Amino acid sequence: MNRVFNFSAGPTVLPISVLEKAQSELVEYGNSGMSVMEMSHRSADYKAIIDKTTTDLRDIMNISDEYEVLFLQGGASTQFAMVPLNLLKTGGEVDLIHTGAWTKRAIAEIKKYGKVNIIASSEDKNYTYLPSWDKNDFSKNAAYFHIATNNTIYGTRFTTLPDTGQVPLVGDMSSNILSEVYDVNKFGIIYAGAQKNMGPSGVTVVIIRKDLIGHAMDITPTMLDYKTHADKGSMYNTPPTYGIYMCGLVYQWVSEQGGVKEVQKMNEAKAKLLYDFLDESTLFSGTVTKKDRSLMNVPFVTGNEEIDARFVKEAKEVGLVNLKGHRSVGGMRASMYNALPYEGTKALVDFMKQFESVNK
Ligand SMILES: *Cc1c(COP(=O)(O)O)cnc(C)c1O
Repeated sequence: MNRVFNFSAGPTVLPISVLEKAQSELVEYGNSGMSVMEMSHRSADYKAIIDKTTTDLRDIMNISDEYEVLFLQGGASTQFAMVPLNLLKTGGEVDLIHTGAWTKRAIAEIKKYGKVNIIASSEDKNYTYLPSWDKNDFSKNAAYFHIATNNTIYGTRFTTLPDTGQVPLVGDMSSNILSEVYDVNKFGIIYAGAQKNMGPSGVTVVIIRKDLIGHAMDITPTMLDYKTHADKGSMYNTPPTYGIYMCGLVYQWVSEQGGVKEVQKMNEAKAKLLYDFLDESTLFSGTVTKKDRSLMNVPFVTGNEEIDARFVKEAKEVGLVNLKGHRSVGGMRASMYNALPYEGTKALVDFMKQFESVNK
């Protein structure tokens, strides 16, 4: 076996112990005589799996009984439509802080049903900073307030949350859920595709305050109504059974690390190592305003496309893979999700130092 250090933005690295556990249970789960993949979602064995997975997520994120936890499909991209369909009345308004490609997609969906108030935007500088906001600009009667807590492509994050008062805050947490401690009570809805910090693609986790369920517009397709899924414990139709099982293994892994608090410390240590080097490097530089830097996704450039391409290629040759930047930023991007070990970042920084010394 020859595992690389995988810096992909997602799907991406999973903890090796999780993969090995899944491997050991792949052909027969417990004494069930079958794989989790082969189980009816209505079986007692599977019910135990999804129940434990839900409890474990509630536990590691400290989610109160006021919230429902749903395991859905369709990715965060489906949530861009599902949230307005459920929270907005036709012609209503949504406040939003515009921080990149993902909020742009959210805006496009909201506009099909109502109005978007852009409270702040960093579009003027290609989303390389987190824009500041003025509370006086918030709309009193907004149906909800949308943010992306971490911006996967541009490498920015919210270090403080907007105080939206009675207006429910909706957080697209796809790329930093479980990476740092969040107070769930500050949100009306949190959602995240699993494939960045929780498991394989195909599962979308939605954490929703119960009073926000049951108000969908009449035109809402049954499958896009939160009530449909909340009433049936995510079992209205066949849920992504194997993916949910894998998420459960990852939640157990997070617990074993000492919880999100300890995982956050590891993430901060990895981020510090890379950012400190970027700040002193004569060849590489980070693209994001220092105070707004993401712990998860770190874009950086040399300023020379030919050198960037060579760096990505040579890094791959030594087992540091998926470092090519997103096309809208260029250069490189190192995504360092929870499961990327500290040694991965260390190996990257060591390689960058060596590359710099021969490419001065
Ligand atoms: C990856 C990502 C998405 C899109 O997720 P899908 O699961 O592919 O639909 C949306 N928002 C953010 C912040 C992301 O990182």
